[in-house]
Amino acid sequence: MSSLRAVKGMNDVLPEDIGRWRRVERAFWDTVARYGYGEVRTPIVEPTELFVRGIGEVTDIVEKEMYTFVDKGEHSLTMRPEGTASAVRAYLQHSVGARSPVTKWAYLGPMFRRERPARGRYRQFWQAGVEVFGDPGPFVDAEMIDMIVGLLAELGVEDLEVLVNCLGTGDTRARYLEALVAYLTPRASELSADSQRRLTTNPLRVLDSKAPQDQAVVAEAPEILAYLADEDRGHFDLLQETLTALGTPFRVEARLVRGLDYYDRTLFEIRGRGGELGAQNTLCGGGRYDGLVEQLGGSATPGIGFAMGLERIMLAMSGDDAPPAPDAFVVVTSPEQRTDAATLLKALRGAGIAADADLRGGSTKSQFRRADKSGAAVAIVIGPDEAKAGTAQVKDLRRGEQREVARAEVAAEVRRIGEAE
Ligand code: ATP
Ligand code: MG
Repeated sequence: MSSLRAVKGMNDVLPEDIGRWRRVERAFWDTVARYGYGEVRTPIVEPTELFVRGIGEVTDIVEKEMYTFVDKGEHSLTMRPEGTASAVRAYLQHSVGARSPVTKWAYLGPMFRRERPARGRYRQFWQAGVEVFGDPGPFVDAEMIDMIVGLLAELGVEDLEVLVNCLGTGDTRARYLEALVAYLTPRASELSADSQRRLTTNPLRVLDSKAPQDQAVVAEAPEILAYLADEDRGHFDLLQETLTALGTPFRVEARLVRGLDYYDRTLFEIRGRGGELGAQNTLCGGGRYDGLVEQLGGSATPGIGFAMGLERIMLAMSGDDAPPAPDAFVVVTSPEQRTDAATLLKALRGAGIAADADLRGGSTKSQFRRADKSGAAVAIVIGPDEAKAGTAQVKDLRRGEQREVARAEVAAEVRRIGEAE
């Protein structure tokens, strides 16, 4: 017995649990394909500077959660903590904007943050998300929110709350920050040490603090919506109108800000209320980042995206997920038939049938036990008689019926029984 264990906060997924993962992944890819997104895969490691510049220096992620290392004394690299910065980097590197005015990308993969592990909070976790470049919204914003709600409903996550806010753009933000600092400064002594520091470095982040003492102060803070410029207001009104037309319930949460610096205008978060979520109930966060592409060296290009945490979605999901079972299990009635079984297995698999067997030499009874345990719907039994006749006994394990069929017909018979299920 080895004492080697996985890194704290990083999880294995074993085959018996993969059914739920597959269901989420399949539903995600099916959904985004219907909405016109193409899959993008970027490296798991990027230059540290990308995240520092992209996410923002004074954010939880960059200040304390990144896995950063120096590669052979030369370059500072970081395990990606989120997907948007990498997507923007790839979008710019490949001049994607020059080929098409609007680009829709989707991704799914592991992310890394050095957080305190808890249920629904891990150090390696999985996100699925999308990015849209080149469309200023707000219709695509509403469509995206509605798409996620539909995807979650398909997965059996229906007890949801959709929160939306508008963070405005440059001018709005500057006027609001002034008012926020004017409100927070006299109450600075009531704030946590972290928030006191952020009051000077990045005041908006104080609104996102999870410390109870900060929340009391934040509850009375001025709201950004009161500071929106006319254009921002129009954008936000149209977003709400479109969401209503699409039939997606939402709540305006004027103090919603999220943990990344790049957001402007539309901001949203989807929280789950049911299942085994507990404190980590934010399933999905997203928003508009109209300044990010330019900030990372491109020309001004609006953008919007979201990411959802797959582990949290799975905690909130309902429905059973049986691990994948073979279609058929081959049983030999004498050990001499094992080579024959090996060729039959190969033929079945070649015909597109998931087939398995236990050819260690055990009794017929123990092979049938394994067949049952495998979850296969069909057992294919071969012995000396069947070998001589060029046939096999095909047994429907659910109904108990058995038929002898020619070898060439076995695959079709397995399929017929599978379809009758
Ligand atoms: P939280 O407030 O829970 O820390 P966040 O604001 O850091 O979330 P985002 O960076 O917006 O979250 O990431 C989007 C989603 O990714 C979250 O809503 C959540 O579902 C998931 N997520 C984020 N961090 C983790 C983590 N450490 N473990 C598992 N899932 C996570
Ligand atoms: Mg976080």
